[in-house]
Amino acid sequence: MKDFRSDTFTQPTEAMRKAMYAAETGDDVYGEDPTAQKLQRMAEEITGKEESLIVSSGCMGNLIPHMIKGGRGKEVICAPESHIVRHEIGAVVSLSGTLPVLARSDNGIMTREDIEKNIHGYAYDMSETAMIETENTTSGLIYPMENLRGIKEVSEKHGLWVHMDGARIFNASVETGISVKDYAETADDITFCLSKGLGCPAFSVLSSTREFIREAKRCRKILGGGMRQIGILAAAGIYALENNIARLKDDHEHREAISRALEESGWADVRISSTNMIFFTSRYPIASIIEAFRRKGVLFLEDAGMGRIVTSLNVTDEDTDETVRIIKEMDETEFSR
Ligand SMILES: *Cc1c(COP(=O)(O)O)cnc(C)c1O
Repeated sequence: MKDFRSDTFTQPTEAMRKAMYAAETGDDVYGEDPTAQKLQRMAEEITGKEESLIVSSGCMGNLIPHMIKGGRGKEVICAPESHIVRHEIGAVVSLSGTLPVLARSDNGIMTREDIEKNIHGYAYDMSETAMIETENTTSGLIYPMENLRGIKEVSEKHGLWVHMDGARIFNASVETGISVKDYAETADDITFCLSKGLGCPAFSVLSSTREFIREAKRCRKILGGGMRQIGILAAAGIYALENNIARLKDDHEHREAISRALEESGWADVRISSTNMIFFTSRYPIASIIEAFRRKGVLFLEDAGMGRIVTSLNVTDEDTDETVRIIKEMDETEFSR
């Protein structure tokens, strides 16, 4: 099977598993796991932030900043397409009490004007604008630096906190050549995922100021995310940061080749094609297209009414060539079987 469902399906490689086996460990709740500490120091180096904290998942990395800077009676300005709105079961609302205010956006990308329109001053009967959330990449799309800088300026003018959901920030960085540190400078805190394109079994890392991370550690504990000998998983993260960043370029080339084949197919309308993701619509039902490809050994999913193809470590050059061939040879009657 050629698996384009998500970059979360990536498996730890043999070399990664060996690094995990050899990891030194300690009780991380007491700050005594040397491998976890090393991963956090690496994240600080990469993001340019004062301090970092390993969190169980990307969702936890998004929720904690809302617990600290949002809360009951506070608003976060974000895009309607954002992960916190669409894919986290409303946790920022139900667990942190923060109200998401949905700004206008182009497929999840907002401008400073989109943000500024939603900022309001004090009123006794209104919740207060407290923070802004950007997501980079968002549906595979790279946030233009100009937008991020504009949003940061607005936030400073109004004293608002900026949280960046950088689950796939490394995809943006290898594509543009802009460092993660430069992206991170446009936000007050940033979280990135190790468990997606970087190929680890678990974890995200949250980075910000010393004061913020001190509080974040308490929130992580509240959420049941204080873990013990996590060096065994942190070692996978260290391995990924050392070995799996540059190769994301391969995923982007694979996406490019598949996207071209889809554009030429006559039955797919490619709506988004960027970094490691493709979204397409069709005059045929997406479910029947997915089923026809599954019969030929190609797996992908439906998202927001569109076909979604994600390239990752799971997909080799040969898989890509083979998939391009399958797209080219696909008989449209297969979609109405
Ligand atoms: C996957 C993802 C998350 C959440 O990560 P989990 O580890 O699955 O909780 C958050 N934000 C974005 C943009 C993501 O793609």
